[in-house]
Amino acid sequence: MKKTIAVLPGDGIGREVTAEGVKILKQVANLFGHDFGFVYGTIGHEAIEQTGNPLPDDTLHLLRQSDAILFGAVGHPHYDNNPSLAVRPEQGLLRMRKELDLFANIRPIKLFDDLLHASSIKPEVLKGADILFFRELTGDVYFGEKGRKDHHTAYDVMVYSRHEVERIAHLAFQAARSRRKKVTSVDKANVLESSRLWRQVVQEISAQYADVQLEHLFVDAAAMKLIQNPRSFDVVLTGNLFGDILTDEASQIAGSMGMLASASVGHTVGLYEPIHGSAHDIAGKGLANPLASILSAALMLDLSFGLKKESMAVVRAVELTLRQGYRTPDIATGETPDNKILNTKSMGDAVGSELEKIVAGEALITET
Ligand code: NAD
Repeated sequence: MKKTIAVLPGDGIGREVTAEGVKILKQVANLFGHDFGFVYGTIGHEAIEQTGNPLPDDTLHLLRQSDAILFGAVGHPHYDNNPSLAVRPEQGLLRMRKELDLFANIRPIKLFDDLLHASSIKPEVLKGADILFFRELTGDVYFGEKGRKDHHTAYDVMVYSRHEVERIAHLAFQAARSRRKKVTSVDKANVLESSRLWRQVVQEISAQYADVQLEHLFVDAAAMKLIQNPRSFDVVLTGNLFGDILTDEASQIAGSMGMLASASVGHTVGLYEPIHGSAHDIAGKGLANPLASILSAALMLDLSFGLKKESMAVVRAVELTLRQGYRTPDIATGETPDNKILNTKSMGDAVGSELEKIVAGEALITET
């Protein structure tokens, strides 16, 4: 299969982890006989430094020409500490999602058995948790009217349209059909009008999926239940802001931010990225966990290219690497021996070597 993959490493650890995601994609191409071409673009702080624009037109053009996008992260402490700066790295990411109409962010939250003890949640609560988040990406307070009335008052308007809720609700219900047939829709319908519309539309759509159970939760209750009983969730459907917060919380189910991959899909090219940010506290030190980027590459192989076997082989390679006891510092515990704690690049190499063994027939590919 011949595909062109646009690579946007972005800022901070985005650069380090994306290099490992690309390494694994190149290896998949070699081992399975595909022809993947890679084209690189700039975004975020790096792009602002070079062009003054967090998403230069050249980058957007390159994305529109590609078959899928592997993205790292954007962000820089310079902006975090200066909230009044008008041009900001995250604008590049928001505009990219909007321009490419990537309305659904899909985040699988699954704990690898070998990481049961890496989470701060009790293993008996966690074991077997397997959640698929659908976070709406192009509406909500992120894109509503915003501004300052005066020095003392600011506002961000939370807006949702029927169409925006309908299209992501369909995706969530369809996904639930091939899983445990339950959708939990999360909103704040007791106080927010936009949430009342959300709930009404989700209820209407659910009539077309009689085989799928629908549950509604207020976001505060959902936040509590995610930690109290993560196994009670199957597919979670929620808006942009609530999804942003809940999926970071849910990263603790998977052990670390560095373990969670995501796919953003719409009607055009798919975007694949770890859920974490540019993590400047650890950038440039080889401490970043590249598994979220590698698992994002696996999602790309499955969802954008339909390469299920290749995708499962990458996930299995990650699982086997963890089974060997290899850890980056974020998922290491007091019991991890020093010689099993790997830097970013060595973790990518370790996954690559397991992938080779799988393809050589020395390890089984099974769904994990
Ligand atoms: P962050 O996700 O960058 O980091 C949160 C914590 O998790 C940090 O302690 C970090 O060291 C750790 N962490 C994150 N990814 C890790 C990995 N792969 N391996 C090991 N540890 C990891 O969030 P933050 O600190 O709130 O934000 C830092 C910057 O990233 C900000 O400028 C923010 O705007 C930006 N950001 C960007 C995105 C994105 O590009 N999608 C998402 C969130 C935050």
